[in-house]
Amino acid sequence: MRTTVGIIGAGPAGLLLARLLHNAGIDSVVLESHDRAYVERRQRAGILEQGTVDVLRAAGAGERMDRDGLRHDGIELRFDRRRHRVDFPALTGGRSVMVYAQTEVCKDLIALQLKDGGPLLFEAEALAVEDAQSERPRVRFRHAGSEDVLECDYVVGCDGFWGVARKAVPAALSRVYERTYPFGWLGILADVPPSHDELVYARHDRGFALLSMRSTSVSRLYLQVPDGTDAEEWADDRIWAELERRFETADGWRLRRGPITQKSVTPMRSFVHEPMRHGRLFLAGDAAHIVPPTGAKGLNLAVGDVVTFARALTHHKQTGSAELLDIYSETCLRRVWQAERFSYDMTTLLHRAPDATPFEDRLQLARLERIATSRAVETDLAEAYTGFPLH
Ligand SMILES: Cc1cc2nc3c(=O)[nH]c(=O)nc-3n(C[C@H](O)[C@H](O)[C@H](O)COP(=O)(O)OP(=O)(O)OC[C@H]3O[C@@H](n4cnc5c(N)ncnc54)[C@H](O)[C@@H]3O)c2cc1C
Repeated sequence: MRTTVGIIGAGPAGLLLARLLHNAGIDSVVLESHDRAYVERRQRAGILEQGTVDVLRAAGAGERMDRDGLRHDGIELRFDRRRHRVDFPALTGGRSVMVYAQTEVCKDLIALQLKDGGPLLFEAEALAVEDAQSERPRVRFRHAGSEDVLECDYVVGCDGFWGVARKAVPAALSRVYERTYPFGWLGILADVPPSHDELVYARHDRGFALLSMRSTSVSRLYLQVPDGTDAEEWADDRIWAELERRFETADGWRLRRGPITQKSVTPMRSFVHEPMRHGRLFLAGDAAHIVPPTGAKGLNLAVGDVVTFARALTHHKQTGSAELLDIYSETCLRRVWQAERFSYDMTTLLHRAPDATPFEDRLQLARLERIATSRAVETDLAEAYTGFPLH
């Protein structure tokens, strides 16, 4: 099998890249280790930055998002039983975000790819990227019980944190920057209309809580739990009672309960692999970097990477110049580190470390107070949340 761009992974990064390349007249093949149902059902991100929304629309994948997605003009911060709303358009010159689940983004992109895009092979597991530094890198993969080879001009590893692409960068050239956190998120999906019309980020002495949503009838809620927690330890009533305590306000706000349909625990990690390019192998999305979900940046960073790659390759095709491909890693990493910084700040602002001292608790509250009272500090949060520009 032979193609211009071999794409490993059909998460948001790989699927969007295939669409962007198709629109630019560049052929590609996508290899995905799981089946279609798995990719379409895996619950993860739900907040699309303004720039991501614009990219999906321009790529022709915005129709259902514009119909079913929920535009959000702000978030609420909750601390000390008080509420503070951050008004995005007022602080950023009109920017907002869209609540539209990653599962739906993937469904839309898969449907487009299968309708008129290049090959998208499910249950095709990449085993290794070979000859990344040559003109003809190859992906060895297993599909339908036998091994095959995909010969490419370029390989893009969009295979997430646990994928194989990153392993093709020699250890001597890899630099890894990493931090794990001593807590995770217990996330639930519940068949109940959201109790608030915007996301609520709550800092509480018992730990962080987040109120989010997937639609007008499905709530997505999270609780900070100790690292290594088993979701089954948490009975439904216990989850609702803990959420109620952490969201409690002095003005009597009420949380609506409903049947819980899914429960899982996500560990929290910050991770960056540099460089994001080795020869003709390019890393994109979670394959190269992970952020804790507090800043809602993971999917949006993945989109930024593949837009950068597609532009660089299109530029090469049109002009013969590889200058943008050559600076792919530096270009992406500038944005990645801003998102790492923001995600870390949001995490440490809102979560309670197991060994937090009363002094650190008061500092957290002082930081939140500063956001609530300084337009400059609040603007910094609003600009980062709605997204850094895609240069
Ligand atoms: C609970 C949770 C909440 C989150 N919330 C947000 C949010 O609100 N906003 C946000 O922006 N981000 C959020 N994220 C992060 C976001 O989901 C990820 O950053 C995003 O999925 C990254 O997309 P990706 O395409 O790079 O990787 P992935 O989505 O991980 O896709 C990688 C794909 O590669 C496939 N693959 C792996 N190995 C191989 C192989 N060897 N061969 C072939 N295929 C392979 C996998 O099956 C998978 O389909 C959240 C994440 C979690 C876990």
